[in-house]
Amino acid sequence: MKTSIQLGKIIGIPVRLHISFLLILPLFAYAFATINAPSGEWMQSHTFGLMNTPLGFGSVEDLLIRYTSGTLVTLTLFSCVLLHELGHSYVAKKYGIVIKSITLIIFGGIASMEEIPPDPKIESKMAIAGPSVSLTIGLSFYFIYRLLEFVALDVMSIFVGMLAFYNVLLCGFNLLPAFPMDGGRLLRSWLAKRMSYIDATHKAAWVGKTFALMMGIFGLFYGGFWFILIAFFIYIGASEEEKATEVTVTLRGVKVRDIMTTDVQAVKPDMLVSELVDLMFKEKHMGYPVVDDNVIGIVTFHDIRQIPPEKRDTMRVEDVMAHDIISVGPDEDAITALKLLSKHDIGRLIVMEDGIMVGIVSRTDLVRSLELLGQMRL
Ligand SMILES: [Zn+2]
Repeated sequence: MKTSIQLGKIIGIPVRLHISFLLILPLFAYAFATINAPSGEWMQSHTFGLMNTPLGFGSVEDLLIRYTSGTLVTLTLFSCVLLHELGHSYVAKKYGIVIKSITLIIFGGIASMEEIPPDPKIESKMAIAGPSVSLTIGLSFYFIYRLLEFVALDVMSIFVGMLAFYNVLLCGFNLLPAFPMDGGRLLRSWLAKRMSYIDATHKAAWVGKTFALMMGIFGLFYGGFWFILIAFFIYIGASEEEKATEVTVTLRGVKVRDIMTTDVQAVKPDMLVSELVDLMFKEKHMGYPVVDDNVIGIVTFHDIRQIPPEKRDTMRVEDVMAHDIISVGPDEDAITALKLLSKHDIGRLIVMEDGIMVGIVSRTDLVRSLELLGQMRL
């Protein structure tokens, strides 16, 4: 399912909008339009009052102005989130790290990297860039807010004051020492100077998960729906980061050639589907390349499962096989194969060298080598 839409490109990076954003936009606009703080009740029960800036347009009389301003400030804030992500991306680009895309989601943004940074020092510079951008924006608006305060406390100054506060909050929130927050990355790069990258990731992920659990428990007892939601988000993020790093680091340097199966049994296009079913049960392989001089397709258990048993004696492999062959070269990285498998949501890739099939690499091959390599490392 497509979960995000592309807005455009900035410094060559596609900027995407996650669908959760469309949901959260009216909620934020509503909240910003109605919060009446710092003079309101909301402020007294929260301790974010240090900057003493307004947090919403609740004090504005005119309903139309209130809601228009709420919407405008929401859009401006998300532009600030985008600037935060561009901060990360700019530093990444400087070190030659490819940023695939920036996605604006429910809690802010995500800049997805093509690979993990090769050096913890670079990772920490990248991680700190985003919060630095947010802090700079926040403090600049704070300065303007303090100047405006001498003039009058009108809609404009509320607007500026909110941008000041929420950008500083965004900086602070991102510095939480928990994946996928920037603070989690800073913690990992700090640890990675003292231990292996994998161990540093495990430790940082542990901190992130513990943090998320504590936050979730706090939310349960003190009734904070947002805390539970953010805790959940951090917990999932920490686990995913841990898994992804483990796979990437373990498969580093491993080529498709090292893990592919070379004695590939192929089937002919005119083979009956019923014969193929027998072969599958006998060989316990779930997919076969279809070869007629050249590889012309691939047929899997998934393709034949759809054929009713009474038709299996008349239909042939060429009628049910998939024609678009997704292949990989033997000297490509195993991680590339893994990415192709998940991108196309398939179980196996054909390994082609100079137009000839030299092997097959399946999900099972990858999982098996991950397990073996993982054990060797211990
Ligand atoms: Zn960030």
